[in-house]
Amino acid sequence: AKKRDGKNGAQLFDNAMLDRARSRAEIEANIEAGLVDNWFEAFLQPIVTLNGRGIAGFEALMRLNHPHKGMMPPAEIISVAEETAKIVRVGNVIMEKAIANLAKISRIPGMQDTYLAINFSPLQFEPALPARLAAIVGRHGIRPERIVVEITEAVLMHDNPQIRLIVTELRRFGCRIALDDFGTGYSSLSYLNRFPVDIIKIDQSFTRAINDGDDDVRQKSRMLIEGITTLSHKMNCTVIAEGIETEEECRTLHQMGLDYGQGYLFHRPQHAATLIEELTASQSAVARAS
Ligand code: C2E
Ligand code: MG
Ligand code: MG
Ligand code: MG
Repeated sequence: AKKRDGKNGAQLFDNAMLDRARSRAEIEANIEAGLVDNWFEAFLQPIVTLNGRGIAGFEALMRLNHPHKGMMPPAEIISVAEETAKIVRVGNVIMEKAIANLAKISRIPGMQDTYLAINFSPLQFEPALPARLAAIVGRHGIRPERIVVEITEAVLMHDNPQIRLIVTELRRFGCRIALDDFGTGYSSLSYLNRFPVDIIKIDQSFTRAINDGDDDVRQKSRMLIEGITTLSHKMNCTVIAEGIETEEECRTLHQMGLDYGQGYLFHRPQHAATLIEELTASQSAVARAS
């Protein structure tokens, strides 16, 4: 698939470029097929309190379950969905499915106050979003206070008045706002000042760094997390550590004053039906024990 100019051999396209275009086109086709044929799923990953490890909430994580290829990695799907604006339709499916599952989970004893965090890309903050979300939570009998809207600095970086308006509207409606992947972008602190944020999610790169073999890296990362946590608490924000994989990380973060944790140490992202079975089983185990 090379196109060469006979005289000087200049290539208009190289093979890598063509492969990339082909695979993006393929991913786009999979997204479209997934929307039409219902291949999208909202996996759920529990978020636990660091003292006691009880479940405080769940994060909805998009998965495309291709009938032949199986689960496709979300990072690729999301970037193509954003480029092609299909993320709005994908996001609507995730909202609907995840909230329906939160309603099912709520019927398990002890789970009635858990929250649901949903990730949003910049394009999803269209004027129709607040009414759409209100309709879904209303239909499932979920209080809006149980919904957390996760945004990244990419959303705030747009500094787009429409995005700001929609986020403010969602918050007035009762939803809480979480700033995701905190510490990975730019000028994070200025966003805290200009945006109404209720929850700070410290990126998993920090969770890794607190046990880094290099003393200097480890000390500085710990001081940064402690500082951010103190600051967040002064601003009445809850602090969550992402990507906790070891007991040591968990212990350190708990000692440092973080509120919640999320990671493979506690629970992996799971198919909602599997999670519901597990939660139901462990509830009845508790009931039998008491
Ligand atoms: P995120 O919002 O920061 O989600 C956390 C990511 O960390 C998830 O990756 C999760 O599977 C992973 N994770 C959780 N615990 C651990 C751990 O202990 N160790 C490690 N190494 N990873 C852990 P995932 O599911 O691949 O999602 C990637 C990103 O895609 C998300 O990052 C989020 O930014 C985006 N995303 C996922 N679902 C949606 C969605 O429905 N809509 C939009 N717009 N973006 C989404
Ligand atoms: Mg997130
Ligand atoms: Mg994150
Ligand atoms: Mg992330």
